[in-house]
Amino acid sequence: MRTLLTALLVFLHLLPLPAASTERPSLVVVVSIDQFRQEYLTRFAAHFADGGFRRLLSRGAVFTNAEFDHSLTMTGPGHAVILTGTYGNVNGITANSWWDAAARREVYCVADPAATLVGAAGNGSSPANLMTPTLGDELRLASGFRARVVSVSNKDRAAVLMGGKLASGVFWMAESTFTTSTYYATSLPGWVREFNNSGVVNGYFGRVWDRALPEDAYAGCDRDDAPYEGTGAGLGRAFPHPVTGEDRTRITPSYYSALLTSPFGSEVLAAFARAAVRGEQLGKRGVTDVLCVGFSSNDYVGHTYGPNSHEVLDMTVCTDRILADFFNFLDEEVGLRNCLIVLTSDHGVAPVPEYVTANVAGADAGRVMVEPAKAMIEASLSRRFGPPARAKWIEAVSNNSIHLNPDALRERGVDAAVVSQALADTLRRWKAMAAVFTNAQMAALSPSSTIERRMKRSYHPLRTGDVFYALKPYWIEGYGTTGTSHGEPHAYDAHVPVIFAGRAFRPGTYRTAASPADIGPTLAAVLGLVFPPGGDGRVLSEALR
Ligand SMILES: [Zn+2]
Repeated sequence: MRTLLTALLVFLHLLPLPAASTERPSLVVVVSIDQFRQEYLTRFAAHFADGGFRRLLSRGAVFTNAEFDHSLTMTGPGHAVILTGTYGNVNGITANSWWDAAARREVYCVADPAATLVGAAGNGSSPANLMTPTLGDELRLASGFRARVVSVSNKDRAAVLMGGKLASGVFWMAESTFTTSTYYATSLPGWVREFNNSGVVNGYFGRVWDRALPEDAYAGCDRDDAPYEGTGAGLGRAFPHPVTGEDRTRITPSYYSALLTSPFGSEVLAAFARAAVRGEQLGKRGVTDVLCVGFSSNDYVGHTYGPNSHEVLDMTVCTDRILADFFNFLDEEVGLRNCLIVLTSDHGVAPVPEYVTANVAGADAGRVMVEPAKAMIEASLSRRFGPPARAKWIEAVSNNSIHLNPDALRERGVDAAVVSQALADTLRRWKAMAAVFTNAQMAALSPSSTIERRMKRSYHPLRTGDVFYALKPYWIEGYGTTGTSHGEPHAYDAHVPVIFAGRAFRPGTYRTAASPADIGPTLAAVLGLVFPPGGDGRVLSEALR
């Protein structure tokens, strides 16, 4: 007996010990799927394979009630929140772009006049407008810059704003190539040049995006050829979608739009992310590295066809398969047990208003068409204050902000505060408006509701206009008459996945209130960073071992 026990103890001793939960991951992979509602993970769950979303849902800490707590639910602001743990009122990224009243021009959230593209023509992007550090920035400093932080996306703003100010490599797509800006590097690494030379991006020309599932799987969706769907760069409204662009015979700029509005855009990005892991030896160098991957194609597809389309179901299923392949790659390359995977999104999306009104006649839903709305405002202010002869009242409408024209104010001899108040009073009576405030009211606002709190977090005195508004549910800002959008404080725009899968987390479903702002602080706790990013987020300690 005693011998047996000794033998057993010896045997047990020989077994590899389970890794201590405090052991740090060698690679943190932050996956952000652009325009991805949390409810896609339940509505489409029956169609998922085993290694993608299901792997995260079954083995991860799944926060089912995670919402952005800002009103301008857009790509730039969303990606800025994920790893800074702060909102636009603090990090400065209030919108994808904003009107700079002093310079009298629109400023793109990652524009940097001092930077140019590397290996491609055009203006460079950088985090110059971002006012807070990211998790990656703090990790780079804490590791004496040994940790590598690499951020890749189809879109520059997603890659730049997750990567941060001190990232070792930030790459995004410019037509057929992946590029960076002179803010980060003066030349492209060899593995990026090799990827660009491989011709992967142009290799999809002429491919056809057809359904991944049998036709009856789409029965819960809206009709495939709904008249309020877009036709996206030659893709057409219904399956199958040819990926050529408007010109079927040769590659033109619209080919790249078509490619990005299809699952092939995500295949390209996943291939580039694999090249990044190999090229930068991520997770294999004895320190914790970070890889951020921002899949943008889900957003282009969602804008064009809407969340109830065959295309969004199909895009989600393709994303599931692409993620499964990518996780298998990580397992072979780094070992999934050494990885900490985070899944989230930068925002959700509104239903197509005409899909709502087609099913419920007269429903309180629609588009606020920007140009007619501007004309109504011009007429209203001219009735009240007299028509300006030379200038228009409105200088710019940008991201739920209206900027008054200082020339018109001067010409009519009226104060901006008085006109702002009159304009806000007018807009409040519009059917589509949920909340309207002047800039001064926003500055003084003590929020007393969720909408007000969310607007406050999207407010910046220099980046918000004279009047700032939020639309009611099922109303979107309209420039065209097809497809849909996001950018409002409602759950369908704000409720996104937040999932952590890795040794430091206790798998399970967590229904506590959470937000993507919690990702930065939570990862900082796991990585033992003394200076966690954040201020608006919390450590999701209920899910930590
Ligand atoms: Zn987005």
